This record gives sequence, C-alpha cells and structure tokens, in this order.
Amino acid sequence: MSIETHDAIVIGAGFSGLAILHHLREIGLDTLVLDAQDGVGGTWLANRYPGVRTDSEYSYYSFSFSKEVRDEWSWSQRYPAGREVLSYLNFVADRLDLRRDIRLNTRVRAARYDEVDNTWTVEIEGGAPVVAKYLISGMGVLSQPIFPDIAGIDTFAGEKYHTAYWPRDGVDLAGKRVGLIGLGASGIQIVPEIAPLVDEFVVFQRTPNFVVETTNDAVTAEDMAWLRDNYDAIYEKAANHPFGVAMEPARFSALEVSDEQRRSIFESKWNEGGFHFANECFNDLATNHAASELASEFIRSKIREIVKDPATADLLSPKTYSFNGKRVPTGHGYYHAFNLDHVRLVDTASTPITAITPTGVRVGDTEYELDVLIFATGFDAMTGTLTNIDIVGRDGITLRDRWNRDGLKSNLGIGVHGFPNFFMSLGPQTPYSNLVVPIQLGAQWLQRALRWARDNDVDVFEATQESEDWWAGETERTGKATVMYTEGKKAKAWFLGDNVPGKPEAFLVYMGGGQVYQQHCRELEESGYEAMRAPSRVAEPVV
Ligand code: NAP
Repeated sequence: MSIETHDAIVIGAGFSGLAILHHLREIGLDTLVLDAQDGVGGTWLANRYPGVRTDSEYSYYSFSFSKEVRDEWSWSQRYPAGREVLSYLNFVADRLDLRRDIRLNTRVRAARYDEVDNTWTVEIEGGAPVVAKYLISGMGVLSQPIFPDIAGIDTFAGEKYHTAYWPRDGVDLAGKRVGLIGLGASGIQIVPEIAPLVDEFVVFQRTPNFVVETTNDAVTAEDMAWLRDNYDAIYEKAANHPFGVAMEPARFSALEVSDEQRRSIFESKWNEGGFHFANECFNDLATNHAASELASEFIRSKIREIVKDPATADLLSPKTYSFNGKRVPTGHGYYHAFNLDHVRLVDTASTPITAITPTGVRVGDTEYELDVLIFATGFDAMTGTLTNIDIVGRDGITLRDRWNRDGLKSNLGIGVHGFPNFFMSLGPQTPYSNLVVPIQLGAQWLQRALRWARDNDVDVFEATQESEDWWAGETERTGKATVMYTEGKKAKAWFLGDNVPGKPEAFLVYMGGGQVYQQHCRELEESGYEAMRAPSRVAEPVV
C-alpha cells in the first residue's frame, strides 16, 4: 500500500496555516494542512465564549498579502467580534481557494523524522499516516487550555465550561447563578457581556489586571475605503512597531514631563482606549519600573472613578505588580460591570479557593452556590501545543524531552536543532506582538527559504546549536531589560511560563521588538540561511 506523500504538511488551519498554505502553494509546493477541529479558524473557532473579540484594531488585524481579500472584505467594528474574525478566515479560505488542501477533523498524534529518507511521517488519530519533506507547526500559541488544579473540580454537578472549549450553540445563562474563575484577557471580555444576563454573578479574582477600557465604534464604508487605499502603509507601520500595532511609538519618557503633562497624555490615550494607552503614551512603560508604576497609578485612579463601591475598586486595583507585568487586556465595560448589584467580586488572593463542590465554589469556609461555573484559566502558552504531541526529531528525541533536557532553545522561534526541516509559525521566542504581523511575515520568510532551498539543491534546514544558544541569550537579555520580567514574575505571567505549575520559567516570547526580530530574520536569509544549516552528519562507517 503506498503512503500518501506531500512536499509540506502544516498542522493547524488558523491564521498561520492559511497564510503558509497560500505562500507555499505560490512556489508550487504540494502542501496539506491538517486540523483537529471541524472548521478553519484555529483559535477563533475554539474560543467562542461570550464577548470574545480582538484586542487589536481591525485595520491591522488582517492579512495584507492578498489584494482580493483586502478589496472584498469589510470589517464592521473597530474591535471585531470573534465570529467576525472567524468569518474573515473562512472568507480567506474560500477566496484563496485553500480548502481543497485542508483536511479537517484530523488530529495529529505524532510526527517522526526519518533520517534516512529525510522525511516526516505524521501520525493521525484513527487515520493513515501522511509523509512530507517539510513539517510546519501552525498550532497556535495560546491553544492548549489549562484547568486549575483545585480540589473537587470534577465534582461540580452544574454546567462547567472553559473559555477555549465553549459550546458551538452557545450557553443559555439567563436567570442563572454563574461563577467565573480567571480574569486574564478572556475572563475580562466575558464579564461585561454576561453580567446583564445572569441572575447572580460571582467573579473569583486571584490577581487583578490593569484593564484599558475602550469603545467599539462601527467601521463605516468610508473607513474601509480609506483602509484599502492605505493598507500597505498601515501594514508597514505595524511591521515596524515593536509590538506589531499600527501606531507611532512614543518618543519620550514618562519621567521627563510634568505631573500635569503626564496626566493629560495618559488621559488622552486612555480615551483612545485599548493598546493606544500602552503604546502611545510614553516610551518607557515597558522598560522602566517607575514609569510603569506611574501608568499603574493612573489606571488605579480610573478604576476608583468608574467603580462606585470603594472596597470593590480597591480589590480590582493591582498592587502586587505594575503595568505591563501581564499582557494588558482591552476592556469593553469591564469595570462598569462591577456596579451592577448582582455582580460580586470575591478576593481569592487573601482567602483562596479551597474546593469546588458539587454545588459551587468554596472560598475559605464560605460556599458560593452556582448553576454554572466558567473557567477562563488560560493556556500552556507558546510551547503547550508543541509538547502535547510527540514531535520526534533525530535520535528519537521529542521536542518535549529536548526542551526539558536543554532548556527552551530555538533559532528565532523558527527551527530547532535536531529537528531537520521542521518549522514553527509563532514558535516560542518569537515576538510578543499583535500576532498577525509575525504570522504573515513568517509565512513569506518560509516561502523564500523553501524556494531558495529548491533553487540551491539544499535538502535539509536545521538550526545550529550555536544559533539556538545565541537566540536564547538574546531572548533572555532583551526580556530581562523589560518590566515584563520583573513585574511578570510577580504577576505569574504566561509569557514567562509562570502560570503553569511546574513549568520551568523562561522567556517564551521575544521582547526585543518585532522590527528587530524581522531584521534578524532578514540577516539569516541574506547569509544563505547559514544558521539553519547544521553540518549534516556523516554516516558511521559500517565495519
Ligand atoms: P490568562 O491571561 O493566563 O489568565 C488566566 C486567569 O486564570 C488568571 O486570572 C489566573 O489568575 C486565573 N487562574 C489560573 N489558575 C487559577 C487557579 N488555580 N485559581 C484561581 N485562578 C486561576 O488567560 P487568558 O485570559 O485566556 O488569556 C491568555 C492570553 O490569550 C492573553 O494574555 C492574550 O494574549 C490572549 N487572548 C487574547 C484575546 C484577544 O486579543 N482578544 C482574548 C483572550 C485571550 P492569576 O493571574 O492569579 O494566575
């Protein structure tokens, strides 16, 4: 029986998988995309909880590479809802005729490199294996959900949901007593959306967040016409911004202006909302603790302004870490929701959750009775999807064991030594960014790399050990120069791996700036991919 063979196999049919399929097809590579879900869309298909929407604005949260898609797609809101992003990705799949090379309901169990044939064999749950020269992960960075390790979690007799496994048909929460554990970007989006629907809402908070509120204006036909005329410039702006947003980086320090000027700048960027605050106020909110603390105090003052009950406002105000210590979430009426009489904030930092019981959640000795319990408890970020399946490289070692043994290592988050012809879209140590930018630029980089390999008869790309050591060092060096390190540690941020009990702490993302990262990628390309060409092994003589 002959085995199905392709040039490239991509795992995941989200933003990454779609972009890579399109770009590899353009250079004539026979590419197959496999995805466990029953539709394209990746994270936007999985995360269908109430309130899910982009935290990046529509104008730079989309691909720029297809004129057809740009001309024919129209966004309806400044921060598109999850279902609109999902429609966009379905539109992309249709418009670029991608579906004929996407196989859905296909869960990859393992992938093994064969040194003799220089191929990857991909094992599929309940199906025949497929083989390809190139294996590419587009499995997503925040796609391996985690449940908290709380005693009795399986005993809850009511309805129980994780934000990343939200039922397709939605959940009727009207008139119910609902509890929520988890207040990262996901939980923060849920709160204002479901608060008006439910009878009682108990929000369990362990660590408060600095939420930047925003408004969600309609996108008009004129806005779309303007965007179409300016798309390349906007995309370039985002690509040149450290965090991949189409904004002008701020030029001066929060410490070099008067109190009055600072307040006025904070105020104006707060009014613009969302990522404008973190990116456009001052140039040192991510690098200087005193500056980050000034931003923290401004947001605390906003919380006190919005939330009527002073004790609740105080509880919602982070005090154990400062601004940027966690990925800054965008709010859509988050703080206002706590003014509703039936919304109750329970502090589980001072008195922890002791158990989940059949009827609710116990905090200390107090039991909160609930009909529905929602977990917005996050993900095993950046590495979780890659270590959850067996990706087996040279000498039979899995990626999981390689990283357990040697620490997190990669060249630019693209390749790993010992894993020839394996590439990652948004692998660990890629930029902390609006992700559409590194996804698109990464797909274009890969297109050029694989075309070059074909044109130059190069059969194997494999990151050198030196390149991995260099990049691990760069990632650590640049990361440690930010408050994301000092404050992220205090806040147990996912980008340090600190949100997963037992996960070794490491910078899972590159904090040195998306534009710097892209420069490194260009240099790698200009060098003839030198650092991706580990010396090939010479076969041992047979005695
Ligand atoms: P997250 O930021 O990791 O937040 C998880 C939450 O669960 C935290 O509040 C955490 O509390 C809580 N938690 C975890 N284990 C707990 C336990 N044992 N007991 C009590 N509380 C517990 O996860 P997320 O909100 O899903 O967001 C992850 C990332 O996904 C975001 O930072 C963002 O990058 C991305 N995201 C993006 C969007 C968007 O752009 N639209 C939307 C959603 C998510 P502690 O803080 O105390 O640990």
